Amino acid sequence: NRLANQIAAGEVVERPASVVKELLENSIDAGASRIEVDVERGGARLIRITDNGRGIHKDDMGLALTRHATSKISKTEDLGCIQTLGFRGEALASISAVSRLTLTSRTRDSELAWQASAQGRDMAVDIQPAAASPGTRIEVADLFFNTPARQKFLRTEKTEFNHIEEVFKRQALANFSIAFMLKHNHKIAKRVPACAEPAQYLKRIATICGQQFVDSAIEFKCQHEVVKISGWLGKPSFHRSESDIQYVFINGRPVKDKTLNHAVRQAYEGLLPPGRMATYIIYLNVDASQVDVNVHPTKHEVRFSEQRLVHDLLAKSVSDALS
Ligand code: ADP
Ligand code: MG
Repeated sequence: NRLANQIAAGEVVERPASVVKELLENSIDAGASRIEVDVERGGARLIRITDNGRGIHKDDMGLALTRHATSKISKTEDLGCIQTLGFRGEALASISAVSRLTLTSRTRDSELAWQASAQGRDMAVDIQPAAASPGTRIEVADLFFNTPARQKFLRTEKTEFNHIEEVFKRQALANFSIAFMLKHNHKIAKRVPACAEPAQYLKRIATICGQQFVDSAIEFKCQHEVVKISGWLGKPSFHRSESDIQYVFINGRPVKDKTLNHAVRQAYEGLLPPGRMATYIIYLNVDASQVDVNVHPTKHEVRFSEQRLVHDLLAKSVSDALS
């Protein structure tokens, strides 16, 4: 079982940023309105995520760390219309197989928090009382300490942190109602308060993508029976060298989907000066039964019932907005 968990970990946990991705998704699924991400040494030394979500009941802590145990889907029919970010029940078990993991959680109806920890093996669930506010804190220390081959693939602290920051940005752009904070080596790298109304979205986008993007951005919207599209497009002349601004979200979930990227590229084609890339933040909303997010464990790709239609609608709405 330990081996099985380590093998599964190979798929789920490629680098510190993968851990941050999974833990952020769990906090969001738990209904948190405030999430803090603290990392040290690019996440290799420590990743700590604290949320104010619904928490994990003491009796469920062992299960939360067990592979294929998820509280999020209970019947196969649910697979057809997944509403949560997680559903495989693999992340915590996989992460704990390749790190020293401590889980502290308190549900709202509990006076006390409870703490459990695991070190590179199946949870010998030893649960102790602890003091904490309602919510969940997960600490992942010494990632890959027991898988030296994988540890060797870690890049510099800066590179690993850049990947973490990218994951963080994606979720910050996907969840405007949640307050987020990211710290690296005890210093605040990014902080965004909750947006109470759409008027505040641009402020967050400026924090995440830069004021220059916001100044250049064209807001657009397209309503269709099958899909609702909205977002911000950088003018073709806009350019930023440090990192790409290319974000697509489906039903609040960050995705990197070839078909959708192709549609956007097609719309920008011929408008971009040589060497420039399109910049965009695009939100698609489709009925959950019309989209399959269950394609790959890392969940970046999606499949639509009406792939072609969604592609063409996206290409057209971006192209209309740019002209
Ligand atoms: P999945 O997200 O696919 O269900 P995970 O391994 O990521 O699987 O998490 C296992 C379970 O632990 C979740 O189903 C959930 O019940 C619980 N859990 C994990 N993180 C949190 C959190 N931050 N707040 C509340 N519950 C959590
Ligand atoms: Mg999860």
